[in-house]
Amino acid sequence: MINDTLETVFANVVGRNPGELEFHQAVREVLESIGPALGRHPEYAEARIIERICEPERQIIFRVPWEDDRGRVQINRGFRVEFNSALGPYKGGLRFHPSVYLGIVKFLGFEQIFKNALTGMPIGGGKGGSDFDPKGRSDREVMRFCQSFMTELYRHIGEYTDVPAGDIGVGGREIGYLFGQYKRITNRYESGVLTGKGLSYGGAQVRREATGYGTVFFTEEMLRADGDSLEGKRMVVSGSGNVAIYAIEKAQQLGGNVVACSDSSGYLVDEKGIDVELLKQLKEVRRSRISDYAAVRPEAQFVVGRNVWEVPCEIALPCATQNEIGASDATALVANGCTTVVEGANMPTTPEAVRIFTQAGVRFAPGKAANAGGVAASALEMQQNATRDSWTFDYSEQRLRQIMQDIHARCFDTAEEYDMPGNYVAAANIDGFRRVADAMLALGLI
Ligand code: GLU
Repeated sequence: MINDTLETVFANVVGRNPGELEFHQAVREVLESIGPALGRHPEYAEARIIERICEPERQIIFRVPWEDDRGRVQINRGFRVEFNSALGPYKGGLRFHPSVYLGIVKFLGFEQIFKNALTGMPIGGGKGGSDFDPKGRSDREVMRFCQSFMTELYRHIGEYTDVPAGDIGVGGREIGYLFGQYKRITNRYESGVLTGKGLSYGGAQVRREATGYGTVFFTEEMLRADGDSLEGKRMVVSGSGNVAIYAIEKAQQLGGNVVACSDSSGYLVDEKGIDVELLKQLKEVRRSRISDYAAVRPEAQFVVGRNVWEVPCEIALPCATQNEIGASDATALVANGCTTVVEGANMPTTPEAVRIFTQAGVRFAPGKAANAGGVAASALEMQQNATRDSWTFDYSEQRLRQIMQDIHARCFDTAEEYDMPGNYVAAANIDGFRRVADAMLALGLI
């Protein structure tokens, strides 16, 4: 599937980054797509652009010591991978989750390079995080952890250098504590150093909603390209975090019927449509689990320990985490009549599952394109911070929608240009890659 040169590049990436399976998977997916672009641009291979893109510019690993509520010392590991700054300062979220290790941060950082390029905005790619698990931790523990994390991270970031944001386990609360510590250590009110900030201290309207809303705007465009719409479609959204909540909200506003969502312990089905206000109340205010939903709405059912992809739907939006749709899930979705899969999470579909969807003629959009609304809204937040301005909700949403329409149009056109209509995976990889490659060529050997 990939030519000999790319096969050698891939073997080298694996050899140089042993055991980092998610990173290998993300690299392979890109290499499998960009062959045609390399054929048309021999200058990329000559300058060894691919090999350079696969090697992060800088990788930082650090100790994060902190004290829990019982006065015991805890030690976590912190990461920031500054992957590529050809298009702008490194930009990408921080993930706090026990599964985080270098391979996860690198896969996310690698994806981020192309995603950020696809937005057409001046942002490079990076990612960070920690194996810290915020689940079950008190507010004060989370604060102490964030302060310790920033006590090391601050020296590596800055509004012109590297601009982190949230990801799994890092929301408004964590960004607040991180920003507070950055401000305290540096004595600078440098709003543009972090995005996803609260509205009371330099945050931007629609940033919180942007990843989920953007995923649905992208879905809308994909359907429109086929003369279809979201109206009356039966939908399943996996996850119940920030991306899922706002994907559900926007899908419902646009006429979709979202009947299920999930968390790590099972899934929730509400045939009348998920009550998104109740979901927000549970997750954002009470910080409880979706299993409590059925206690409030008895017509809903929480199914323990099972996989949400067994729920029949026409449109599936995986918005939880990487590799959450495997081959058997894809087979079940196809058998149950699913026609459209749009990734709200990063790399939620395994390569085998993508193949099953493609063979079955299911429309499929990769996260790089479909969930780019989050980071695009972050770039809008940076823009507002730089000009000390703040935009209205409606204007910000209109900008986000336009950006998602533009990303869709670019993918659509690139797929036509390369004579592979409907192949959003290859088109997103090629378009993102070309943008970064051209900038790298222009900047000399960097
Ligand atoms: N974590 C988000 C993503 O995966 C957003 C990153 C950002 O806003 O910088 O794209």
